[in-house]
Amino acid sequence: MSTNYIELEEKYGAHNYHSLPVVLERGEGVYLWDIEGKRYYDFLSAYSAVNQGHCHPKIIEALVEQAKTLTLTSRAFYNNRLGEYEKFITNYFGYDKVLPMNSGAEADETAIKLCRKWAYEKKGVTENNAKIIVCEGNFHGRTITIISMSTDPDSYRGFGPYTPGFITVPYNDINSLERALQDPDVAGFLVEPIQGEAGVFVPDEGYLRKAYDLCKENNVLFIADEVQTGIARTGKMLACDHENVRPDILILGKALSGGTMPISAVLADDEIMLCIKPGEHGSTFGGSPLAAKVAIAALTVVKDERLAENADKMGKIFRDGLCRITSKMIEQVRGKGLLNAIIIKPMKGKEAWDVCLKMRDNGLLAKPTHGNIIRFAPPLVINERQIKEAIEIIKNSLAEIES
Ligand code: PLP
Repeated sequence: MSTNYIELEEKYGAHNYHSLPVVLERGEGVYLWDIEGKRYYDFLSAYSAVNQGHCHPKIIEALVEQAKTLTLTSRAFYNNRLGEYEKFITNYFGYDKVLPMNSGAEADETAIKLCRKWAYEKKGVTENNAKIIVCEGNFHGRTITIISMSTDPDSYRGFGPYTPGFITVPYNDINSLERALQDPDVAGFLVEPIQGEAGVFVPDEGYLRKAYDLCKENNVLFIADEVQTGIARTGKMLACDHENVRPDILILGKALSGGTMPISAVLADDEIMLCIKPGEHGSTFGGSPLAAKVAIAALTVVKDERLAENADKMGKIFRDGLCRITSKMIEQVRGKGLLNAIIIKPMKGKEAWDVCLKMRDNGLLAKPTHGNIIRFAPPLVINERQIKEAIEIIKNSLAEIES
């Protein structure tokens, strides 16, 4: 019984999530199955970690093979997998160096440390004075430093004191950024190319390009958090590719492992990356032989299966289909590639949460973010027939709620 599993989590787990009541036990491609054998479309993809689809055979094969051979040595020693992965991922994204970590939050923390170090060693900012510009509505994870940059009270309230050194500007506001960049102690601008957790906010065309150019004019590092938007999610390998922007520091996570284990990475050129010296940063698990082998497999699948092209194509069909739904509850449809959202207008006491429950009943899983926004982010292996079926489920669910 589902209720037994839910009660177990409620009783023994911390109450830091409000999960949709469904208990899952199996996944394959775009589908998930609950413990009663009911099948669902996964329209969350573990917050975009499962871009390659659940249990992709090539990724699982790499995972199992390497798990049987060597999993972890720590970076105290060299191993026969890490260098190969470092060469692979730096070629793949076009950077001199990579620093491997585990979670997205750790990769963001790494980027912040790297940026600060660069400010003191290369830019000439006086010790402890470096500042990083961040955006209102940002989401970069849950650590103390990261919530210190957050403007979402749920994220930061009650967890002070906070880490100093951040300047907040409105997202998608180039004039505010330009003003903030006048401060000579500014070392970096940290930005999500599309704000995912905030509710899939797509900035105006040209924003990222202008922001990048302004950073260059002011000798400030452009740092892209592509933990959610990267690895083909928005219809290009990186969301920054839509505007031909090459970040000075690139932060990746989630789909780097195809959802099998926490693997994240920070990429930069030597001028920046070599500011961190032995002993100044690290992680027991980061860059393990297991992670190295899995990440190569996960990234290979993305290219071999042309997932960026598919995300672009399916995304257009999906948004088009959503826009054709004549429901008074849909206030807005927005997104890029297969990172999309609808804004729900509550009706007759029914809200986004109720819509998600109804979609669950009808065989599609999604979750509200910030109350009235429902994000739709299926695995990128989804095909046209499946996308159309999903649109029907969403349409019927809204109609049932409204009737
Ligand atoms: N950065 C962005 C843009 C994210 O969307 C997330 C997670 O949703 C993170 C960082 C944090 O990643 P993790 O949960 O792996 O720490």
